[in-house]
Amino acid sequence: MSDNTTSPRLTDISHIRDLLERHGFHFSKKLGQNFLVNPSVCPRMAEACGANADSGVLEIGPGIGVLTRELAARAGKVVAIELDDRLPPVLAETLAEQDNVEIVSGDCLKIDLARLIAEKFGDRSVAVCANLPYYITSPIIMRLLESRLPVTNITVMVQKEAAQRLCAKPGTREAGAVTLAVQYYAEAETLFSVSRGSFLPAPNVDSAVIRLTVRQTPPCKARDEALMFRIIRAGFGQRRKTLLNSLGTLGYSKDVLTAAMAAPGVPPTARAEQLTLEQFAALANAL
Ligand code: SAM
Repeated sequence: MSDNTTSPRLTDISHIRDLLERHGFHFSKKLGQNFLVNPSVCPRMAEACGANADSGVLEIGPGIGVLTRELAARAGKVVAIELDDRLPPVLAETLAEQDNVEIVSGDCLKIDLARLIAEKFGDRSVAVCANLPYYITSPIIMRLLESRLPVTNITVMVQKEAAQRLCAKPGTREAGAVTLAVQYYAEAETLFSVSRGSFLPAPNVDSAVIRLTVRQTPPCKARDEALMFRIIRAGFGQRRKTLLNSLGTLGYSKDVLTAAMAAPGVPPTARAEQLTLEQFAALANAL
């Protein structure tokens, strides 16, 4: 099903160089522009997000459209948000045969995504699929999750280290505040690794594709989610300290903290990385 088009392949490096030269385009490091040139990766990503004729896909940062084409070959509709104004003319050429793709110019961190999804996709079920610009991986993922967008899953390419952190098991060294935040909203899994040589230009790190399957209901009950996340951030902000010390920065006395920690059975010597999400929720509820 992949690349069912008569246009040249968008993973062919000499074709890409020719295309970009004709459009006077130079890669911007600042915008995280590393385009995928490994032909096996985009079809796998498009399959993994579950795109089908009835569904919609929201892509972030289509670049020259290599993943967009694969998504368009499977989904009913694809909407792709691109910040770099030099790329829509390139995309008009590379996606000329795809009539189910719409490019939206703008910054994915500023656009009202809930409104965009409602306007563009109506009743379709929607997945997010993207090779993310690495300089804003976590802000994008947290924005997508925290705004509780009506999306089924977020299937994205991220730096390998980010994948390890986002999909870490609680209680391990890789786990951080973002791990627990992701867990609250989604089930996270690493699908496959992608070497740095799969990109043009090649970045100095390897990558991985992860899938966050969005939960319909959170796995635990925090009466005040914002407080729970403040506690998680404060705890991991000084992860070598005991929670009794690190949570002092939130203004709680040691007595209050000790009493609150006793409720979910957290010992006074515990550090943030030793707590489960359920225990953080219980601690927030007790405070
Ligand atoms: N999808 C293409 C591919 O896989 O070859 C390009 C991926 S490249 C890693 C990231 C893309 O995101 C670039 O096209 C870049 O211009 C775009 N981008 C960077 N920051 C953005 C933002 N804030 N909002 C939307 N797009 C952005």
